[in-house]
Amino acid sequence: MIYADNAATTRMSETAINTMTELMRDAWGNPSSLYAHGQNAKEVLEKAREDVAAVIGAEPREIIFTSGGSEADNQAIRSAAELGRKKGKTHIISTAFEHHAVLHTLEKLKAEGFDITLLDVHENGIVLPEEVEAAIREDTCLVTIMTANNEIGSIQPIREIGAICRKKNVLFHTDAVQAMVHIPLNVVDDNIDMLSASAHKFHGPKGVGFLYAKKNVRLSNLIEGGEQERGKRAGTENVPGIAAMAAALKEANEKMDENAVHLIKMRDRLIAGLKEIPHSALNGDPVRRLPGNVNFCFEGIEGESLLLLLDDKGIQASSGSACTSGSLDPSHVLLAIGRVHDVAHGSLRLSIGENVTEEEIDYMIKSVGEVVEYLRGFSPLWRDLMEGKKEFIL
Ligand SMILES: *Cc1c(COP(=O)(O)O)cnc(C)c1O
Repeated sequence: MIYADNAATTRMSETAINTMTELMRDAWGNPSSLYAHGQNAKEVLEKAREDVAAVIGAEPREIIFTSGGSEADNQAIRSAAELGRKKGKTHIISTAFEHHAVLHTLEKLKAEGFDITLLDVHENGIVLPEEVEAAIREDTCLVTIMTANNEIGSIQPIREIGAICRKKNVLFHTDAVQAMVHIPLNVVDDNIDMLSASAHKFHGPKGVGFLYAKKNVRLSNLIEGGEQERGKRAGTENVPGIAAMAAALKEANEKMDENAVHLIKMRDRLIAGLKEIPHSALNGDPVRRLPGNVNFCFEGIEGESLLLLLDDKGIQASSGSACTSGSLDPSHVLLAIGRVHDVAHGSLRLSIGENVTEEEIDYMIKSVGEVVEYLRGFSPLWRDLMEGKKEFIL
């Protein structure tokens, strides 16, 4: 079995599993309690905060633990919106291909009277800093742009965007869920005011994440209650999960350079192999992309059938289209980079893991080629293309 869906979630590392199980036994106290068991849990929690902060160049008090990337995105955007509204600033800038945790929050804010500008991400899936600058207005309170896209892996020029935001005195938030431990990130050097991350994308447990917020950024609560997390996130902390996240983050961060060298080599081999399939195209930028991300469109087929047949061959991957939810809409990310519906439907994302081998890459190339050819054999769309009733795009 080849697991090539690491952008959806990753397997927990042994370090994370061991940390979590040990702490479930040993640090079960409530970190808010003053007796020994509580203080023991509190120490574990604060050590995790220091470790997480160190990885991104933050101070421990700038880290808030959350239930994951979605919550961190929601809290960051809601906080900036509330701060903005107080000053009469109700304009927010983002892109059309953000994660739904960002896009759906922005839709809600729009209904609440905010004005939202979604910037073009161009054919390669990369935002231009000068277009961010041009979009900033007197009433702009937030720019939120992801560090790397979850579907096509394109890496955004966040340092430049952050510098522009600083200059214009606008808050900058970045959803770094996919980028974390795959590319170097430093909140100071990269001019970031707020950053979201999620443990299960870097071999930590699900349901845990964190929000970095620069110390001068006043956060608002999504959850009211006790005084946990400096009053910014009520609820007894998931101490074992948080410690496991910190352990996974530290471990993956230490191996980042080594992993990236291997992943880029494997990624580029996979891309070169899949390019040989006729009427196919890589989605996203060939170079400015995450080390483990490969995303292709194949003309004349449906992504869903491709996935099912690949599963039969022992390859677990993902497609951009959202037919599982009963909708026939293709991925908003592929549409944002200008893929037309027919082409966007035939998409495949292979997000490979650090342990992938050259043999596995070659097996994936061979299997995808076979499955695409097989599916085209009885696809009405492919027949139309072959008979010239429709024009090839790729
Ligand atoms: C997975 C993901 C999220 C959501 O994180 P959860 O921890 O699953 O809530 C947000 N943004 C991006 C880019 C993601 O890939």
